Amino acid sequence: MILPKEKIYRYMRHIIMPEISGPGQKTLLESRAVIFARSARPAAPMLYYLVSSGIGHIKCYFDDSAGMESLKENLRDLNPDVWIEMNEFAETKAKSQNASEKISCLIVFGDINFIQNMRNNMNEPFDIDTVSGLQSHHVPTVFAAAEDWWGVIQTVKNPENAFLFSDTVFGNTIISTSPKDDQPVGYWLSCCLAGALAAIESIKLCLNLGNSSENPLYFDLLAMNFEKLKYNIAPPPLPSKQNTDDIIKKLLDSKVLIVGTGGLGSPASYALALAGVGTLGLVDSDCVEISNLNRQILHSTSRIGTPKVKSAEIFIKDLNPIVNVVTYEARFTKTNAMQIIKDYDVIIDGVDNLPTRYLLNDSCFFAEKPLVEAGVLRFDGLGMTVVPKEGHCYRCIFPEMPPAGSVLSCSESGILGPVPGVMGFIEAAEALKLLAGIGNTLQNRLMIFDAMDLDFRITDVRRDENCPLCGENPYIKELAEYETTCDDVSDSF
Ligand SMILES: [Zn+2]
Repeated sequence: MILPKEKIYRYMRHIIMPEISGPGQKTLLESRAVIFARSARPAAPMLYYLVSSGIGHIKCYFDDSAGMESLKENLRDLNPDVWIEMNEFAETKAKSQNASEKISCLIVFGDINFIQNMRNNMNEPFDIDTVSGLQSHHVPTVFAAAEDWWGVIQTVKNPENAFLFSDTVFGNTIISTSPKDDQPVGYWLSCCLAGALAAIESIKLCLNLGNSSENPLYFDLLAMNFEKLKYNIAPPPLPSKQNTDDIIKKLLDSKVLIVGTGGLGSPASYALALAGVGTLGLVDSDCVEISNLNRQILHSTSRIGTPKVKSAEIFIKDLNPIVNVVTYEARFTKTNAMQIIKDYDVIIDGVDNLPTRYLLNDSCFFAEKPLVEAGVLRFDGLGMTVVPKEGHCYRCIFPEMPPAGSVLSCSESGILGPVPGVMGFIEAAEALKLLAGIGNTLQNRLMIFDAMDLDFRITDVRRDENCPLCGENPYIKELAEYETTCDDVSDSF
């Protein structure tokens, strides 16, 4: 047997994908990632995804060690398979004598200034000897930059061919906001998304999978704009500065409901708690299982068997004690749907099955509540934002539920751990913009994310006048029967 039984359960959603399978997961567990970051808190979302995916050996170097110990404890509880070292310089030097200790990938994570400084400290772009004592020329490197609402990700496999965004594109034109810990909301959102994207790129490097983003991928969460930057072509305009005090005030008074606390609900609640949303409502009837832990970063090994909403509450309260958490340990059904959503300003879809997705769309339409939607499968994600009476709904694009058995579920097809991370963080950004009344959302737009190419495509969609729910002559006039068509209702995405 390639992996022991417990590891097979833990990484089941990876193992059932032919691109990874048992041997691929074994390679991940034998891989080693080295991370440079300014401090633990901004890099935490990325570390949760690297650790839950099962990259076996993770070494971190932080300029500032604040928050490092408690993060390390949480990461160990999320996945005890992973050997985590933080700021352990002496040991690293001794270990580097051992030729078998090969680094699979290097990650430089921080604001633009941090990345530029890191590069200036290196003799050659990819010689990190002077920084860490590691013999590691030409290690494939992921650069991940997070700024206020925007960021850039780039994977550099071959330094001779690469142009680096930090000096070629942004170096002379951008003054970084040089984030410190009391940061604007948009910065924390960018740290989350940049972190999940960097985790995807690192896993792809370890497994030699897909196409790395050799051209820097620029993201703007305020406009929901994603572009691959090109050499000598000016970058798109950066998001305009937002009134942080005003946003924080609005968020404190806001209530967001997250239906499902699994693969999508975990990152969505993580980012909303980090941003300081006043009240988070969580709906889930499941208990934590080991097969959740390759991606559901709110849960942990010691909380296996605990109701997910309780496990999530523990995590959120630890991350940000000011957030008021309301839990509903129940299935979201036709009977309780309207009652639960009526108290909330924005609803987030973190469900794992189509019947509940249709139920959620229809109840939000009848209750006139904005709904942020996302779905994930394998290496792909899909997202949209629905504001009833102002634009399209889920049924405008997918009018009827496909018949039972015609659509593969996540438990049948698998899912790469950080993919729901990307989509859940996008959902959180959408909810925050709706609550604060800023930026452009995915309303009347459809986002398609492809992790294999690290590519985001956004197309315009519009309300369908023949929509059975929100069209001119709708035939759905109240909540209908929503049959369970998937087997995996017990395992949220
Ligand atoms: Zn519609």
